[in-house]
Amino acid sequence: MRKLPRVLVVEDEPAIAELIAVNLRHNGFAPTVVFDGAAAQREVDAVLPDVILLDWMLPGESGVQLAKRWRQHERIKTVPIIMLTARTEESDKVQGLDAGADDYVTKPFSTQELLARIRAVLRRRAPEIVNDTVQVGELSLDAATYRVLHAGRELKVGPTEFKLLHYLMKHPERVHTRGALLDRIWGDHVFIEERTVDVHVKRLRESLGTAGAMIETVRGAGYRLTAQTLAAKPKTDPTPA
Ligand code: CA
Repeated sequence: MRKLPRVLVVEDEPAIAELIAVNLRHNGFAPTVVFDGAAAQREVDAVLPDVILLDWMLPGESGVQLAKRWRQHERIKTVPIIMLTARTEESDKVQGLDAGADDYVTKPFSTQELLARIRAVLRRRAPEIVNDTVQVGELSLDAATYRVLHAGRELKVGPTEFKLLHYLMKHPERVHTRGALLDRIWGDHVFIEERTVDVHVKRLRESLGTAGAMIETVRGAGYRLTAQTLAAKPKTDPTPA
């Protein structure tokens, strides 16, 4: 079963935080609520969320300061951030986006609007979480029906290998370090060793059969999924006489 997308809610007004959390839970998300920047930092250090809802006005470090800091942090910078704010000035919106927020929601907002924006940033920044189909060479994966096909033949792939394959197929021809894969696939590299990645890549290659060759080991760097294997190169028919 697919894991629920984790949403970190950084909001110091308990009533609003609770309302958001309840709505997220009812709509297939796993929210965690914290009330200030220090607690938010501890939370992202422990478990990397899939998306962060960040209130602008917080006690201590502001939401804008937090967003700026996280955008420079190698591990956190890819996590989408949606700023929550009571400010309505256009210049405030620009300041929020400049700080590295992906989107901006003005209070009061409707639950439907907030959910739509969360889904939109996830689709843009972490497409492996949202259902869709992806194709690389003769390999295709459908996240909605949980199927992997190679040259029209269905392959059996375990849940972690499926997630790993989905991510590699969404970002083909690029080298991914073990650390980056842990962050994106497992969401939290604090408690898992990098060797775990090697184990799942090995299993994934076995599940893929001949298409396993599409996953290359790049010595000293990590892994890459490529369509440019010998098997995947198009055959050229000899010109008929
Ligand atoms: Ca506030």
